[in-house]
Amino acid sequence: MLNQPSANQIPKSKKVLQQQILSLCKKKDAVILAHNYQRPEIQEIAHYTGDSLGLSRQATSSQAKIVVFCGVRFMAETAYILNPNKLILFPEPRAGCPLADTITAEDLRAFKQAHPNVPVVAYVNSSADVKAESDICCTSSNAVKVVESLSSNEVIFIPDKNLGKYVASKTNKKIILWPGYCPTHHKIKAEEITNLKKQYPNAKFIAHPECDPEVLALADAIGSTSRIYAYARKVEAENVIIGSEMGMLYRLKKESPKKNFLFPSRHVICPNMKLTTLKKVYLSLLNMETKIKIDEDIRLKAYQAVQKMVEVS
Ligand code: 13P
Repeated sequence: MLNQPSANQIPKSKKVLQQQILSLCKKKDAVILAHNYQRPEIQEIAHYTGDSLGLSRQATSSQAKIVVFCGVRFMAETAYILNPNKLILFPEPRAGCPLADTITAEDLRAFKQAHPNVPVVAYVNSSADVKAESDICCTSSNAVKVVESLSSNEVIFIPDKNLGKYVASKTNKKIILWPGYCPTHHKIKAEEITNLKKQYPNAKFIAHPECDPEVLALADAIGSTSRIYAYARKVEAENVIIGSEMGMLYRLKKESPKKNFLFPSRHVICPNMKLTTLKKVYLSLLNMETKIKIDEDIRLKAYQAVQKMVEVS
């Protein structure tokens, strides 16, 4: 029977709710890991915020028994794949990733048959089933390194065609692409960046590699969400254009309060990342729900691919 406090038992005040979540963490030996796109009020109480690679590493290095994963499903699954002995709680089970959903394990098996003996690099934005069919995983921060680590001159890269094209521009290997893309990064248009650059001629532009190639062609730097923070801290520019999700703004402002961060005019917001709320994190810890579980056969196969990535990076 789920412990459902009535609406008036859940603290209304943000501060009180945050305190109660943190005291539940202490009581139950839990840590909160939050992706860089999470709502500010979640990032405020997270024990660690980071990009996909950083979060995977943190889930493993943390001594806590429970990891409350605030992000999207593939990220929580990756934490479980690496740490089956920890309890991975996922406060919002509906938070999926439309990019990951562009390919199923069955699709990948057919793709591999069409390109026999070519190794598969799977971006972590993929399901556990798809990872289990892949040779090695990568994230946006190590994709080039991972592809370069393979001895084959040809590589299947799934599911993000934009990250795959970016990798292709950095290596001599032939990259066979799957036509997936992130609908949130796809909202960023080259014309908007050109306009912002006209308005702010000295601005620097950093983009996430999930952006379309025409957008990446305008970038002064390209990198994962954590690389974007590092770049923003270091760059000597008053105005910095960000080619990624708007959840980044909270920490950008906190870390570099004197800089002006500019986003394209369309609201670049990942609706899945925003599904997780403080209330859901609180209920998740209270009820110990939803527990991430993956069939052990699949987990072991997916583990090989994720672990190879960890070794390479
Ligand atoms: P990062 O690994 O750069 O945080 O990217 C994850 C992601 O899904 C971006 O849309």
